[in-house]
Amino acid sequence: MSDAFLPFPPTPDRDSRPWWDALAAGEFRLQRCSACGALRWPAREICNRCRSFDARWETLDGAGTVASWVRTHQAFAPALREAVPYTVVQVRLDAQDDLLLIGGWLGAREPVSGEAVALEIVPGKDGFHLPCWRPAGPDAEQARA
Ligand SMILES: [Zn+2]
Repeated sequence: MSDAFLPFPPTPDRDSRPWWDALAAGEFRLQRCSACGALRWPAREICNRCRSFDARWETLDGAGTVASWVRTHQAFAPALREAVPYTVVQVRLDAQDDLLLIGGWLGAREPVSGEAVALEIVPGKDGFHLPCWRPAGPDAEQARA
């Protein structure tokens, strides 16, 4: 299933390498601006809020709520032929409500906009790991894949 979420390995760069390294170590880490405190994702050299170059990496639990989602039935690349259909969610992090991340959906049913989700880091291709989410609300056990 995780191949659907990462059919082609990424090319980490100076800014994104700590993100990929942390995921491979089982940690969900985001950049936090040392000047204004805003979380930054994707990682970048300069803060889009205050233009500071100072940042640190912070480990978070990745909890949030579903902001949106899409179920893909079309294989847009040959590598995805075996993976469709799959669902990708956009998650609004509890740690900063204007921060939206995208990842795989691990629930057995369709996501519901606004529902609570918990992060799970899933191994992908070539040693890369991915952030995925599963239901975390009261009916989470019935909704698990
Ligand atoms: Zn800042």
